[in-house]
Amino acid sequence: MAIIVQKFGGSSVANAECIKRVAKRIGSTYDKGNQVVVVVSAMGDTTDNLIDLAKQVAKNPPKREMDMLLSTGEQQSVALLAMALNDLGYRSVSLTGQQAGILTDPVHSKSKILSIDSTRLEEELSLNRIVIVAGFQGVTEENEITTLGRGGSDTSAVALAAALNADVCEIFTDVDGVYTTDPRIVPKAQKLSAISYDEMLELACLGAAVLHPRSVEIAKEFGVKIHVRSSFNENIGTIVQGVEEMNKIVEKEMVVRGVAYDLNVAKVTLFDVPDIPGSASKLFRALADEKINVDMIIQSQQRDNITDISFTITKDDLEKTKEVLADIKEKIGAREFSYDSDVAKISIVGAGMITNPGVAARMFEALAENNINIEMIATSEIKVSCIIRSELIKKAVVILHEAFELDQPA
Ligand code: ADP
Ligand code: ASP
Ligand code: MG
Repeated sequence: MAIIVQKFGGSSVANAECIKRVAKRIGSTYDKGNQVVVVVSAMGDTTDNLIDLAKQVAKNPPKREMDMLLSTGEQQSVALLAMALNDLGYRSVSLTGQQAGILTDPVHSKSKILSIDSTRLEEELSLNRIVIVAGFQGVTEENEITTLGRGGSDTSAVALAAALNADVCEIFTDVDGVYTTDPRIVPKAQKLSAISYDEMLELACLGAAVLHPRSVEIAKEFGVKIHVRSSFNENIGTIVQGVEEMNKIVEKEMVVRGVAYDLNVAKVTLFDVPDIPGSASKLFRALADEKINVDMIIQSQQRDNITDISFTITKDDLEKTKEVLADIKEKIGAREFSYDSDVAKISIVGAGMITNPGVAARMFEALAENNINIEMIATSEIKVSCIIRSELIKKAVVILHEAFELDQPA
């Protein structure tokens, strides 16, 4: 008997009709003789609406209370889905993250799963129940409710699949799979039949919302096979898997496999930093202590023993970063800082880049030919990212998708 974990995103359970349709689909997986664990997100725009509501009552809501509030979205959808399944004659039970044994660290709003105690889940499965687990949430050792970051239900699903040693983790969403870029921006984007964990991890980290980055990390670590597919049709989607399996697939060799973009970026510059050992360490230690993730970093050339340091963070962390910089600026003797939230990151990803020189150059040429200025650059073995003006981001996605011929069927 196979164990299948299925995850349904917000758009798949947007209203009562959708929930009933999803219940039927889950039921048919169960009827085929599988043990089924389902992870659900909050219905439709519930999470966004709850965030808006919080902002109406407080300028800077405490993160603990935000987690308390946002976790209710998923609690609604699991209960409703379990009711719909029971109504169809299936034995089903809904569980919160805590009831499902999901233990996290205490970093509210971006917690990481530390472990999963699957005792309750296994008990429920042995009673032939379909188990519906609230995505995106967990609990700390101190019994505090936490959330895993926007889009975090994917991570709940993959982590449960790892804990239960499931045969597959199916991620049901509103597109047919993982595409060469966001199909909502480039209608000619091509669906990938398979993608390696490493490439998917880069795409997800660089903004491809289709999978939460941490879910891919966990899948890679525990070898969980992910199948990203549509909840609106029966088509085969995209398999996310290890490189060994990828090698068995004969697909046109594509140096660049995808283009990703991220608007949740802000650029910060600290001016006239004394160019002595310790300046950068103090700055980035102070940011790390506040759990602020820094992405790209550029230090300008030294002039008169001073330098400028620019770096990028997520927009969500900008307010906290300003507080840290106001304080650290005095401590390290820097003159001033500025910030810019009208920037965005455009990236190309592909494992073939390591062995193909000239890929970055082609990217820069394509942007230059279209008059798009590059403000920062970062590279790794399988990706190149550029910071550009945010209003040009969609244009840049289209240009690069075409420049690397990603609109041709594989
Ligand atoms: P869910 O609510 O099911 O979790 P998300 O909105 O989080 O759905 O993720 C699906 C969305 O991801 C798609 O609607 C699509 O616009 C976006 N997306 C971005 N990049 C890609 C990509 N490369 N392939 C597929 N979808 C992508
Ligand atoms: N409901 C959460 C969000 O909107 C988690 C998720 O959908 O995965 O971010
Ligand atoms: Mg999502």
